[in-house]
Amino acid sequence: MMGHSHAVSGALVFSAAAPFLPSLVIGRPLQPGEVLVGALLSAGAAVLPDLDHHDGTVANLFGPITRLVCRTVARLSGGHRHATHSLVFVALAGAGCRAGVARWERGFTDGLTFALLLLAVQALRSHPSGHRAPVRATAVGLAAIGTASVHTWLPGTGTWLPYALVLGTLAHVLGDCLTRRGAPLLWPYGRRFEIVLIDRTGNRFETRILVPLMTAGAFVLAWTAAFAPTALTG
Ligand SMILES: [Zn+2]
Repeated sequence: MMGHSHAVSGALVFSAAAPFLPSLVIGRPLQPGEVLVGALLSAGAAVLPDLDHHDGTVANLFGPITRLVCRTVARLSGGHRHATHSLVFVALAGAGCRAGVARWERGFTDGLTFALLLLAVQALRSHPSGHRAPVRATAVGLAAIGTASVHTWLPGTGTWLPYALVLGTLAHVLGDCLTRRGAPLLWPYGRRFEIVLIDRTGNRFETRILVPLMTAGAFVLAWTAAFAPTALTG
């Protein structure tokens, strides 16, 4: 799947889970702003498993620097679609985030928020020429404004940020299960899981049917979770 599709799927999964998070794991209602920001952060998290891809959204973020990071991750994790495309990675992302928030509190929350917003802006963009300096500068500016806004108006972000990370990365690995090669969900056990609905990345089914449906679903579910959460939880 394309980075754009993964990001949309992350927003969709967070929006779908948002009405249930308060009673299941967070212990307090999510504010409407938290639902909407959470969907964006989850969209950013949904491109993270492709840290092992030399030409993905993460790799292309800052040219040679991020490409080197991604090549290193690929080398350490066994290549593209290995360790970072497993439930172990999803769990580690959530646990690492929780530990980071506990240790460094809002400094960690702000740093991760900035990184995820930057990834979301890059992945969700609709314009094609995404690697030029002005485009990068715009994305960095938008992510910085978003982070400052979250810091000012949503001080409780650290309490649910690990779940945005888990839901986004989970959306990615499940999404890759819809493609050829699937994903080794139970890594280090090597079996790959796949139900092939997308036989070629960026094909018509992905771009003309799946992404528009997921986008519409994300908007409807995020709006419902933000403004009428009991409509889904009863
Ligand atoms: Zn992937």
